[in-house]
Amino acid sequence: MARYTDAVCRQCRREGQKLFLKGDRCYTDKCGVQRRQYAPGQHGQGRKKPSEYAMQLREKQKARRFYGVLESQFEKYFEMANKQKGVTGENLLRLLETRLDNVVYRLGYAMSRREARQMVGHGHFTVNGRKVNIPSYLVKAGDVIDMRSASKSKERFRNTLEGNAARPLPRWLEINRDSFEAKIVSLPDREDIDLPVEEHLIVELYSK
Ligand code: SF4
Repeated sequence: MARYTDAVCRQCRREGQKLFLKGDRCYTDKCGVQRRQYAPGQHGQGRKKPSEYAMQLREKQKARRFYGVLESQFEKYFEMANKQKGVTGENLLRLLETRLDNVVYRLGYAMSRREARQMVGHGHFTVNGRKVNIPSYLVKAGDVIDMRSASKSKERFRNTLEGNAARPLPRWLEINRDSFEAKIVSLPDREDIDLPVEEHLIVELYSK
């Protein structure tokens, strides 16, 4: 499976904001965006008014990087969103938000989406009682997410879940931290998704 292997903090610096890709480090003063508040690369410190296309591209890249999705996958999500009823931009964000790896991160099982993706890939979770090891699996309202029994006994996972208890839990999710069981209460609305992105610019980009 293809994946991004370059320095992770470069992605945040390119977008000029924290995308929280590294877990703990993102909340410390070691954060790359805080230390170097300019884009990476030779021309990173140059000031230039971005074109309309550049702004659309940046919004798309921001969303793609936030969820750790590759270009081709992102295009597929856009096609799916475009075929659904409703507002395409909101459909797109809802699809990305309901990926199993994102849900695992939101529930606090992992420190970052990257770690959540790895945990799902290693088969630590079940959905409605069946093992699912596909990070891109899309959850539905009413689905029950649980950690497999052998994984629950690992102290590392319990510590992470407890350590993340203070992190705000989106209202469309529920979790019992004693039993590790979680539920998808409903699908997320736009206001439930804290990604600072102007999704209409992404739609404009793909509509050219
Ligand atoms: Fe982004 Fe986290 Fe790196 Fe900061 S520490 S630049 S938020 S990945």
